[in-house]
Amino acid sequence: MEDTIFGKILRREIPAEIIYENEKTLAFLDITPNNPGHTLVIPKKPFRNIFDVDSETFADVMETVRILAKPIRKAVGADGMNIYSNHEKEAGQAVFHLHVHLIPRFSNDGYKLWEGTPYPKGEAKKVADSIRKSLS
Ligand code: 5GP
Repeated sequence: MEDTIFGKILRREIPAEIIYENEKTLAFLDITPNNPGHTLVIPKKPFRNIFDVDSETFADVMETVRILAKPIRKAVGADGMNIYSNHEKEAGQAVFHLHVHLIPRFSNDGYKLWEGTPYPKGEAKKVADSIRKSLS
């Protein structure tokens, strides 16, 4: 996999506000936070995203997300938190080293959640059938 800015952070070649590290993962503050405390969790192994990561590494990343959620929330006095992850350019991924965002949310921060649109009649079954087929 090509080197990324997160590889440089892992190797301490560029500075970052690292808040947590264990054998498999690293967590640091996002340089352009949506809210104070916005944190990125990455695996030390350089997977691109969800489409190539192995199950053990992804589980390690999500366990670090779980460990950090409460302390981050407490530290910045947040009301809640969004946890999300972008996979491939079309989905908003800008850095091609798997990462999960933890974004503290405040009742008055003004962000809106995405709005959904109901399926046209019969379409949900078609999509679900297609996914079930793709799984087998
Ligand atoms: P993506 O859009 O790939 O899901 O998110 C990449 C995130 O990495 C962005 O929120 C961006 O602010 C953050 N980021 C990009 N470059 C750096 C950097 O050099 N240092 C830190 N700490 N965060 C970065």
